[in-house]
Amino acid sequence: MAARLAQVQARIAGAAHRAGRDPQTVTLVAVSKTKPFEMIAELAAAGQVDFGENRLEELWEKVGLAERQDLTGIRWHAIGTIQSRKSKQAVGPFALVHSVDTRKLAERLSRDATAAGQTVNGLLEVNVSGEESKHGFTPEALLDALPDLLALPGLHLQGLMTMAPLESDAEATRPTFRRLRLLLDEIRERFPQGDWRHLSMGMTNDFEVAIEEGATIVRVGTAIFGKRD
Ligand SMILES: *Cc1c(COP(=O)(O)O)cnc(C)c1O
Repeated sequence: MAARLAQVQARIAGAAHRAGRDPQTVTLVAVSKTKPFEMIAELAAAGQVDFGENRLEELWEKVGLAERQDLTGIRWHAIGTIQSRKSKQAVGPFALVHSVDTRKLAERLSRDATAAGQTVNGLLEVNVSGEESKHGFTPEALLDALPDLLALPGLHLQGLMTMAPLESDAEATRPTFRRLRLLLDEIRERFPQGDWRHLSMGMTNDFEVAIEEGATIVRVGTAIFGKRD
């Protein structure tokens, strides 16, 4: 697994260089969903710091295991869809919640974080392609909601996230990633008071294209951990 991790890191560096970017500006989130904790421990020993889970139950379970094994220094990312009635579970020792996909969830995260004396660092999930099956704000709805979202006291917004449509040819995802970057550019201009540092986009099939288009965070599971059951 350490070899697969090194391979992914080399591909990240290659893509960054092609785009004239410093590879250090890209954070690799290793997506460990469904994989046993031992694999996380092994990768952490190899220097991997950021891990992502898409189910909150599993995320909390693994956070607990890390604590019990004194495995400190891991940055945990919540990357999956969160039902707004479960918003409380997304307030915790997490670096970033990538999937703030509705106004209602944003409001509840802010409310629950405030009640717990915390702030949630969040990314706004955007449905760039407009596919019915996808979660997230449409670009228009997001621009509309932003003044309210930026005023939520318990939510510290740090950028945008998207899931590209599944394509057999990675190149086909490029327009989606480019649109997300252009949307972030527009948001930076219209809402300069915000902290718009992150673009979370790119997975095993398409992370190199995403980096060429400006991703600052890629979420990679299969290429590191192998196939999921
Ligand atoms: C599973 C998952 C990933 C990683 O997918 P791979 O194709 O295995 O790299 C990335 N982002 C989200 C939101 C996921 O649920």
